[in-house]
Amino acid sequence: MKPCPHFVNGRWLAGPAGATAPVFNPSTGEQIAAAPLADALLVDEAVQSAHAAFEGWWETPAVDRIQVFYRFKMLLETHGEELVTLVSTEHGKTLSEARGDVRRGIQMVEYATSIPTLLMGESLENVARGIDCETVRQPLGVCVGITPFNFPAMVPLWMFPLALACGNTFVLKPSEKVPLTAVRLTELLCEAGLPPGVFQLVHGGREAVDALLTHPLVQAVSFVGSTPVAREIFLKGTTHGKRVQAAGGAKNFVLLMPDAPVEEAVRGLTEAAFGCAGERCMAGSMALAVGGAGDRIVPALVEAAKSLKVGPTFNDPTVQMGPVITAVHRDRVEHLIGLSESEGAHVAADGRGLHPASSPGGFFVGPTILDHVRPETTPVREEIFGPVLSVLRMEDLDEAIETANRSSYGNGAAIFTRSGHAAREFRHRIQAGMVGVNVGVPAAMAMFPFSGWNDSFFGDLHLQGREAVAFYTRQKVTTSRWFGDADVWAK
Ligand code: NAD
Repeated sequence: MKPCPHFVNGRWLAGPAGATAPVFNPSTGEQIAAAPLADALLVDEAVQSAHAAFEGWWETPAVDRIQVFYRFKMLLETHGEELVTLVSTEHGKTLSEARGDVRRGIQMVEYATSIPTLLMGESLENVARGIDCETVRQPLGVCVGITPFNFPAMVPLWMFPLALACGNTFVLKPSEKVPLTAVRLTELLCEAGLPPGVFQLVHGGREAVDALLTHPLVQAVSFVGSTPVAREIFLKGTTHGKRVQAAGGAKNFVLLMPDAPVEEAVRGLTEAAFGCAGERCMAGSMALAVGGAGDRIVPALVEAAKSLKVGPTFNDPTVQMGPVITAVHRDRVEHLIGLSESEGAHVAADGRGLHPASSPGGFFVGPTILDHVRPETTPVREEIFGPVLSVLRMEDLDEAIETANRSSYGNGAAIFTRSGHAAREFRHRIQAGMVGVNVGVPAAMAMFPFSGWNDSFFGDLHLQGREAVAFYTRQKVTTSRWFGDADVWAK
């Protein structure tokens, strides 16, 4: 079993004896660690320590603060492959997907090193005669990050590098299902020279989250996870006076127009639906096939799905799709496939009951395609969060856009077409915050906001980009006038 300590006030702690959560290698089904679950007392110690460190960290000039992040980036690069294996081992992603997880995280660290420029304010001389105005951005204080299981490196790195670079201190509560990557990131951050107390790592579940959301010294909460929890976190956090950004779940629609190039559309959709075993908030899990596109594309999709090599990931670079996170989640995904079938979906590729000979204890579901799915049924409403692609047949572009826009979510949406007009109509009318044109997974890069809409996001300022800088800071506007004193100069 791997050690999984908390990190509070510059010290590694086992935490209070008692409840733990099991951490599995989903490829084998073996337990590899036990995440300790922090109680309210430990959370208080972490927040108090972050609060005590705030003044000194904020007063450190931004150009000095970012030196830590230059070193942190180099350490992430040097230890990149070790992190990749860790992500793959505790999450189940393929090694190449884990590489993407770490790379996207590193890009956020790189973005954070631009903070001296990003923090610059505005000024205007002579807003009235002899009066000048200027803005500065100042940090908030103690910020908190609560993260999901599906990107063990990238999502924590969406939050703490930028929050810290802005001058805040931080408490990270990673998913209890994948806490080991967060432990390693914390070790590397310390090695990069972050002063004690500026960053805390607290493992836990609901009790720890509640203690963070209600703690009077916490100023802001960044959350990423499922929609019901995101909504709850937003309501509870804002009720307790915190600034909250809460990214939730998704159902992302991919429109296939009759003129879509088949090979590119099949490749894009296969990657969008089955990449990371469908455990992505940007997974393209819903295909809307317009006109004859379904008959042309579905057979090729089924062939592509059936040809994917599924198996244990952490020790085999040739595997193309890994397991889902837990046995409970595998059973839920299989149950939802069954429910969809009973509602009339045709199971064109069936991934249920998969037990690869190389790893019979792993939590596997094979790539699954549900064809002729009807709009109001389970696979359209529920976020399945597994390797399940639903195909709906549509008359025309209007019907497809209207069907996608009826979804309560609004994270991402994509269209495959050769028509500039169809792409423009889609981009203009689709109710989703991240849009792909012939790009199956239009996940925004570090310098852009990760901009989910509707039930995919609660709050005003998104993660990443300038919106995140605005989230982790507040502005002060100074209006000044200086009186001339001719006598003083004359003396
Ligand atoms: P989750 O909501 O179960 O857990 C997320 C975090 O909240 C974890 O740290 C967990 O410990 C905590 N938590 C869980 N239940 C809680 C409760 N009742 N009260 C307080 N805290 C609670 O999500 P998950 O299963 O870890 O992650 C998958 C979900 O995250 C999917 O819905 C996915 O779409 C979503 N996600 C969204 C984005 C995005 O940018 N919109 C990105 C990644 C993942």
